[in-house]
Amino acid sequence: MSSEQAAQDNEQVWDVVVVGAGPAGASAAHAAACAGRRVLLLEKAELPRYKTCGGGIIGPSRDSLPPGFTLPLRDRVHAVTFSLNGRLTRTRRSKSMLFGLINRPEFDEGLVKAAKDAGAEIRTGVAVSRVEQHGATVPDRRTVAVVLSGGEVILARAVVGADGSAGRIGAHVGVKLDQVDLGLEAEIPVPPTVAEDWKGRVLIDWGPLPGSYGWVFPKGDTLTVGVISARGEGAATKRYLEDFIARLGLAGFEPAVSSGHLTRCRTDDSPLSRGRVLVAGDAAGLLEPWTREGISFALRSGRLAGEWAARVAEAHDAVDARRQALNYAFAIKAGLGVEMSVGRRMHAVFARRPGLLHAVLTGFRPAWNAFADITRGTTTLGELVRSHPLARRALDVMDRRQAKEG
Ligand SMILES: Cc1cc2nc3c(=O)[nH]c(=O)nc-3n(C[C@H](O)[C@H](O)[C@H](O)COP(=O)(O)OP(=O)(O)OC[C@H]3O[C@@H](n4cnc5c(N)ncnc54)[C@H](O)[C@@H]3O)c2cc1C
Repeated sequence: MSSEQAAQDNEQVWDVVVVGAGPAGASAAHAAACAGRRVLLLEKAELPRYKTCGGGIIGPSRDSLPPGFTLPLRDRVHAVTFSLNGRLTRTRRSKSMLFGLINRPEFDEGLVKAAKDAGAEIRTGVAVSRVEQHGATVPDRRTVAVVLSGGEVILARAVVGADGSAGRIGAHVGVKLDQVDLGLEAEIPVPPTVAEDWKGRVLIDWGPLPGSYGWVFPKGDTLTVGVISARGEGAATKRYLEDFIARLGLAGFEPAVSSGHLTRCRTDDSPLSRGRVLVAGDAAGLLEPWTREGISFALRSGRLAGEWAARVAEAHDAVDARRQALNYAFAIKAGLGVEMSVGRRMHAVFARRPGLLHAVLTGFRPAWNAFADITRGTTTLGELVRSHPLARRALDVMDRRQAKEG
């Protein structure tokens, strides 16, 4: 092959191809582009696209945004009303902002723009059907073939799968799951008097199904009302949402959008890469198992995946590629992995004793302060349990009690 031909072929191989332009994919593309790599971000929808999501932006999400990114906040939360399946309602307030609320279409579009500004190329309206690391589509061992649904093949030195909870790349990597939930949501436009009542305040309702909860997140003239529960209880989850909406006096307002989406949490030993392909965000099952908060997990894992994919792209052989991919896995396990394991324990306690959690949060000020600190981002669930002997002991006691009860 002439050197001219080699250079031409090289031109056609992207350093990093990112699949999916949600927060994980946009962050990965941004990070890899900032590292100086040629990056292509592929998205099956046209942007802006709708995503079923409460749009709650907690401190760690704010801290993981690209430099200079302006959050398109629809509201700032200063109060939380807690209820236990509609009963024992209690509101807690905070002078400083707890967390922010955004609409996903504009938030995600902003993140994609940041990736583009950093140098990534974006293609929308293209669905990836599979990736191949061996076989006829792959010219050499340093290349991954990304096959689009129409048959077009795109070549890359490294791939980041950020195609969400129903994506394809997680299956290629062999992601293993231990908790799958169904979230149902309605975007409900409301008149100004109703909107005023909710301004700056969210509602969290611990639900009737094990591990379920509901929320009202105000976004100006629209309320995002949703519930989440274990998958497999579809009819009961739907009923919970209907009852929840009726109880709040919102049944008379026609939702502008009603939708559902799965959330998935990885097992502790689930792979985060295979060969030159890394996974991030929902595609990797990276999500806080108790609250199902996933935007900060997507932003943080996306950024790490982009940074390590930039190194995988430079790897000259399979051993080096594997070393870089393992570094990504270590970084995830040391940070988000620890948070997930505490979240898993919290979820197990909450699923059995929602009343206890409700009583502690509404009646015991240090618990409310901890909740507020976590949402503000001054601490994480993992840090809290590590640094507060009382929190650690309480969780240990609950774990033991649960083990005894079988
Ligand atoms: C009901 C509900 C409420 C939630 N509320 C919150 C909340 O308030 N706060 C919070 O932090 N988290 C929340 N989450 C979780 C959060 O929405 C997700 O964790 C987050 O969207 C994950 O981001 P992601 O980039 O990994 O995936 P996604 O946001 O799902 O993005 C994946 C992208 O990949 C694209 N894609 C999929 N397949 C392909 C393909 N084959 N080819 C090309 N592109 C593809 C999709 O179109 C999509 O744009 C909620 C989840 C649910 C279900």
